[in-house]
Amino acid sequence: MQQTKILLDENEIPTHWYNVVADMPNPPAPPLGPDGQPVGPDALAAIFPAALIEQEVSAERWIPIPEEVRQAYTLWRPSPLFRAHRLEQALGTPARIYYKYEGVSPAGSHKPNTAVAQAWYNRQAGIHRLTTETGAGQWGSSLALAGQMFGLDVRVYMVRVSYEQKPFRRSMMHTWGAEVLPSPSDQTEAGRKILAEHPDSPGSLGIAISEAVEEAASRDDTNYSLGSVLNHVLLHQTVIGQEAKKQFEKIGDYPDVVYAPCGGGSNFGGVAFPFFADKAAGREVRLVAVEPSSCPTLTKGRYTYDYGDAIGMTPLLLMYTLGHDFMPPGIHAGGLRYHGDSALVSQLYHEGLIEARAVPQLATFEAGVQFARAEGIIPAPESNHAIRAVIDDALACKDTGEPWVLFFNLSGHGHFDMAAYDKYFAGELEDYEYPEAAIEEALAHLPKVAAPA
Ligand SMILES: *Cc1c(COP(=O)(O)O)cnc(C)c1O
Repeated sequence: MQQTKILLDENEIPTHWYNVVADMPNPPAPPLGPDGQPVGPDALAAIFPAALIEQEVSAERWIPIPEEVRQAYTLWRPSPLFRAHRLEQALGTPARIYYKYEGVSPAGSHKPNTAVAQAWYNRQAGIHRLTTETGAGQWGSSLALAGQMFGLDVRVYMVRVSYEQKPFRRSMMHTWGAEVLPSPSDQTEAGRKILAEHPDSPGSLGIAISEAVEEAASRDDTNYSLGSVLNHVLLHQTVIGQEAKKQFEKIGDYPDVVYAPCGGGSNFGGVAFPFFADKAAGREVRLVAVEPSSCPTLTKGRYTYDYGDAIGMTPLLLMYTLGHDFMPPGIHAGGLRYHGDSALVSQLYHEGLIEARAVPQLATFEAGVQFARAEGIIPAPESNHAIRAVIDDALACKDTGEPWVLFFNLSGHGHFDMAAYDKYFAGELEDYEYPEAAIEEALAHLPKVAAPA
């Protein structure tokens, strides 16, 4: 029998998170306040616990994972590494294809890897409530799960249109004990203001972030939690890449190329950064972030300071951005519809150390269906982006005869996204043109601070 799953024991769950900052050729640029001056860690203290702020600015290579967080990880980690024998066969490629499957977590994606860590640190700091925002619900459900595990109340501001159209992730959040409000809500100043002007507002992630941050900042017992983009979030996700390296070591193989879908950058950073450590030490390995061509942050965005949210409440981050008020088309990969990208991922891309690729919606679903029919697992629409890139390269290997080793992060399963698959089969999904005019317009609203050299 050929080996399909490469498994680790629970005692091989990493003991530390890997901080890529230690291996970056240049230190990350600091976040700036509205006055254009660097903001100190204190500015974040109203909404984040000290331990997470420390991680946010740390340059230490290894940061120990608390035992209780490792214990929580044992519910789904180590996650399996699969060799995609059946997909290789279906493609007739000489490439060896592997994927790390993060859909084995209770919430069905990689997001609980940071949710449980964030919940634990907040509980240690005496916090009893967390607020957050969610679009399609992947992050909200992950934090609801983590809050339940560590005894925190969780309130999720869910973008109203998703609240109404995607009832099942809402049901998951309720099952794990979280409170879910459609955003804009009447519970915050930001929400009330928008409702006064637009009583039928469908909401947006930007508005939901504003509500969650406002509430956390105004209550001593409450903090805010974010599911991607920030340095500490990417840090927590590095358990993925570290496990994968151990799994490759077990079978004596190693990837030529590592791929992951990229929205805010957390699952890409999680899988790719531990391989970047090898690259920094001289090993040859390519790292490819794959994004939708309708929200092409890395491939078409500008590298400059911009707000992390839509209305300008957060500090300014140096990142690739399409403009904070850019509203991406309604593609079905909700987790990839973010105007910016992690500052760490952005800097590595800017310095030519990682690659990025953009793929259109229909081709991603085609790849996802091909994958499901070969490997069985139905991928999340976000994951389909990486699968598209892998299949394209595997087919190129067929032409060249090169037996490349292609490895991707299968960031989650698509069981709650079947309506999108239905639309694809019904021929109702479309490819959106590159939204050049909308991006130009949004880039014209970038905050006026000195752009980096
Ligand atoms: C949220 C999500 C993503 C994208 O988010 P990143 O911050 O780029 O990791 C990708 N896949 C799944 C399944 C998700 O839930």
